Amino acid sequence: MPELPENESQRLTLEDACLNRTIEKAELGNDTGYIELPGSNELGRLKGRQFTETRRHGKNVFAGSQSGPWIAVHLGMTGWLVPFDAPDDPPDYTKFLITFEGDRRLAFRCPRKLGHVRMIDDPDGYIAAENLGPDALDISEDAFREAIGSGRGAIKSALMSQSKMAGIGNLWSDEILFEVGLHPEAKGSDLSDDKIGEMFEAMRAKLNKGVEVKADYTKLPSDWLIPNREEGGDCPRCEGTIMRTKVSGRSAFHCDTHQT
Ligand SMILES: [Zn+2]
Repeated sequence: MPELPENESQRLTLEDACLNRTIEKAELGNDTGYIELPGSNELGRLKGRQFTETRRHGKNVFAGSQSGPWIAVHLGMTGWLVPFDAPDDPPDYTKFLITFEGDRRLAFRCPRKLGHVRMIDDPDGYIAAENLGPDALDISEDAFREAIGSGRGAIKSALMSQSKMAGIGNLWSDEILFEVGLHPEAKGSDLSDDKIGEMFEAMRAKLNKGVEVKADYTKLPSDWLIPNREEGGDCPRCEGTIMRTKVSGRSAFHCDTHQT
């Protein structure tokens, strides 16, 4: 599932391909019954407008202008924003399509359920209404301590809680815990101040690297967990074995030796 690095990469894609172009029309694709998309009145609001800025908060990507409206995109499991130029056809599974003046188009491609495109008036109001915590790359160390260090549940679940902190999901929570040697079921409230500080630094370093490689995981260092995420595999950091367990219903990967 796309997490912060994929969403930041998608924001940059919008920034590069879709700003300052007048929108001729916005329409829905085929087979859109099961996915949340704007209604026809809302689609009409985009006509004649331009996107002049983009934003990202956690796993939400926004494009809009000072006077609105904005699109708020959540990729879900399989969603992806695809700019292309006519006369090329939209990709398969296009659920939402914007036609800009000239040849440029923007498709939201989404083969499976989940994911959505919403029309909103302002991202700050939307972020508050969705009860999202601070973005994982914006959160201060103090706020991180408060959000993660107070948790009595599994630390992996706390890292993934979008209301505590937005942007981290299954893959990157495992990666951070692997780096600092914590078991996914360790409890935040049991951690020392030093350990939480170490986690904060690891989170920033890991996510920044994910953003730097534009979420192309073949470009991550070979001693990270992501390239070694295989049950029964050798840990690239120690003599341990990579284990797969369930934490709050989600698959968690960790090393049985250096993560305690
Ligand atoms: Zn290990």
